[in-house]
Amino acid sequence: MSLKQVTGAYTRERGHWVGDGFPVRTLFDYNTFGAKLSPFLMLDRAGPLEFTPTAQQRGVGVHPHRGFETVTIIYSGSVAHRDSGGGGGTIGPGDVQWMTAGSGVVHEEFHAPAFAASGGLLDMVQLWVNLPAKDKMTTPRYQSIVDAQIPAVDLPGGAGRVRVIAGEFSGARGPAHTFSPMHVWDVQLTAEDPVTLQTPDGWSLAVVGLHGAAIVNESHRLHDGQFAVFDHAGSDFTLRAQGAGATVLVLAGQPLNEPIAGYGPFVMSTMQEIDKAIEDYNSGHFGSLPQAG
Ligand code: MN
Repeated sequence: MSLKQVTGAYTRERGHWVGDGFPVRTLFDYNTFGAKLSPFLMLDRAGPLEFTPTAQQRGVGVHPHRGFETVTIIYSGSVAHRDSGGGGGTIGPGDVQWMTAGSGVVHEEFHAPAFAASGGLLDMVQLWVNLPAKDKMTTPRYQSIVDAQIPAVDLPGGAGRVRVIAGEFSGARGPAHTFSPMHVWDVQLTAEDPVTLQTPDGWSLAVVGLHGAAIVNESHRLHDGQFAVFDHAGSDFTLRAQGAGATVLVLAGQPLNEPIAGYGPFVMSTMQEIDKAIEDYNSGHFGSLPQAG
């Protein structure tokens, strides 16, 4: 056993709004953690925030992406999405939307009409996952992954359970198709005895606190919006709840070891590719959304 050391634990108290529907705190981004957390580029923690009922459409209108994937994980509330690649759908609690922007899409992200009408708690995460340079111009793809498709594996000793969104845990494979090796685990912790989990030696690892309080490696406490970043070296780390239980997101991946050049909604490998993305978007090459019915 070789322990993966926590190299730092961080938090972002201040947030901003994405459109008028998503109050987010950007916990990490590639400007700060690029190589350290590769292939994970960015994580927005949205909510938790209670919304009053409305007949208005809340969210963010048509905008582009190229060169990476957006992964939306819902804990409470419901989000509707449409993209120019023909993808679309509504996801709710326990569901995940894994959108590969690839060569380019425009999309919109709104509170689902029924959720907007009833109001309620919005509690979600949006993760950006980089694509390997050779796959950045892949055809856009949309994976709608519902709760029932995500295997849930009990941790030993009643320590909790792991929902395997991508990669594998204890023989269970997650449904998400990815372009590079990674594990994305939604972990519920229900005991105060530490449980040891593993990633391949050399992988990036971040543990993001979402609900309750969790302890990693018996050294760092994570509340909502706090995250721990680990050394690439080593394989083992421990998790446990402190108190009544906790939810954390575990992001582990094989680093891409490629340059990152980003500008707003475009993440490529070189600034020339960024210039090309802006040019292609401005000349309408990302397509458009079908007219709303
Ligand atoms: Mn977007």
